Amino acid sequence: MSIALPETVTLGHRFAGELPEMAVPWLAEEAPDPQLLVLNEPLATELGLDPATLRGAAGIGLLVGADVPEGATPVAQAYAGHQFGGFNPRLGDGRALLLGELTDPAGRLRDLHLKGSGRTPFARGGDGLAAVGPMLREYVISEAMHALGIPTTRALAVVATGRPVRRETLLPGAVLARVASSHLRVGSFQYAAATGDLDLLRRLADHAIARHHPDAAAAERPALALFESVVAAQASLVAQWMLVGFVHGVMNTDNVTISGETIDYGPCAFLDAFDPATVYSSIDTGGRYAYGNQPVVAEWDMARLAEALLPLIDDDQERAIALAVDALGGFRPHYNAAWTAGMRAKLGLPEGLDDAVVGALADDLLPLLQRDHVDHTSFYRRLAAAARGEVEPARNLFLDLAGFDAWAERWRATGPDADAMDRVNPVYIPRNHLVEEALTDATAGDLTPLHQLLDAVTRPFEERPGLARYAEPAPVDFGAYRTFCGT
Ligand code: AMP
Ligand code: MG
Repeated sequence: MSIALPETVTLGHRFAGELPEMAVPWLAEEAPDPQLLVLNEPLATELGLDPATLRGAAGIGLLVGADVPEGATPVAQAYAGHQFGGFNPRLGDGRALLLGELTDPAGRLRDLHLKGSGRTPFARGGDGLAAVGPMLREYVISEAMHALGIPTTRALAVVATGRPVRRETLLPGAVLARVASSHLRVGSFQYAAATGDLDLLRRLADHAIARHHPDAAAAERPALALFESVVAAQASLVAQWMLVGFVHGVMNTDNVTISGETIDYGPCAFLDAFDPATVYSSIDTGGRYAYGNQPVVAEWDMARLAEALLPLIDDDQERAIALAVDALGGFRPHYNAAWTAGMRAKLGLPEGLDDAVVGALADDLLPLLQRDHVDHTSFYRRLAAAARGEVEPARNLFLDLAGFDAWAERWRATGPDADAMDRVNPVYIPRNHLVEEALTDATAGDLTPLHQLLDAVTRPFEERPGLARYAEPAPVDFGAYRTFCGT
């Protein structure tokens, strides 16, 4: 059976067609009793899909992969990856499928992808499934990231399958329908490179250039230009994570995109108290992916991409390495520029103020926040109030009052713009305790708290009455937060 998609929308198979070695045609496992839990209507509309159609039986069939449109070729994508530093040459979509590429009304190609759609040939020991809670978690956090203006995969829908999933207990199963500008990862290039098939690697690079970094096609060395573009995109992305207090939690090379979008919302979480050592993931015992390590880890991941691209950069390996090392050197300046620009905005500092002054103000602030365990998100909103003359709410967050006062005096002297601060510093982020509360209730069948949370975090900069609890840090009795991969 195939559903009637609007005529303007086609589900293409460019990835599968151009890179068949990395695409295993596959079908979703049947969902015994599919129930739509949440649909992203604005995103559906943006994609040229009709929300009412998606809510109907045929639409839900598409969202769980049961009814694919005529001509579509769903595939499980092959990729490799360094997981916590160790290389695995074959990971791939163990529980996910690329249904195909939508061409949205603006002419952009967007992957329509399912997660939790059943075992594939890449499933290894996994069951191929996903539970309602973690799929709703990805929905909430990725949509919050989008609303914060951070490049990310999007969540189109979560459908409960009616099939239980065995984790520590039996949980209701679900499929997440996800949209991305592509699912090409650093690990995709590592996979192609590891096959030793230079033609495959070249086709993958051409595909990535065409989809994400088209200017690279005209460069003297397109693969090097592609690498430079990815380095810039990732440096900018991770700077934005740092500015908003996002801890990705599993920055393995298979979870790092070529597009520069955030992907894989397994163990991620937002900071409460500012502390570079913050780790939430239960398996990250060494703190490899701690909040403060994210920039150096992203740079490390970019080095792995460079290695995979070397044969395309120059036939002479020594020359290729020299060029790649030079390009990798662009990561730090890009990151620093993006981070400093972001801190300028967060602190409401004037455009004309010298970068060195911005950098010094930011560098002197962070140790104060860290030492006094200041809540990262509410601090910057309260600081905007301080720019309006109401200093106490921000000041009250500190124990070291003299330290804060001395810093604040320097900051006030620059003439910070409070309204500009409120446009970039969120009131509402997906607070860990509220996410957990919403997911627990949703798993038990009550979606009201989830919708309230979504309402708060999808308009994060707009303070609204009745949402005060969404702006508060977790109560102390919430304790240390733990997150999990592969849930
Ligand atoms: P992740 O930690 O989500 O980046 O996943 C790493 C790898 O494990 C990918 O190849 C996933 O497809 C695979 N994987 C994670 N969970 C499952 C599962 N329940 N069943 C099959 N494969 C899985
Ligand atoms: Mg992953």
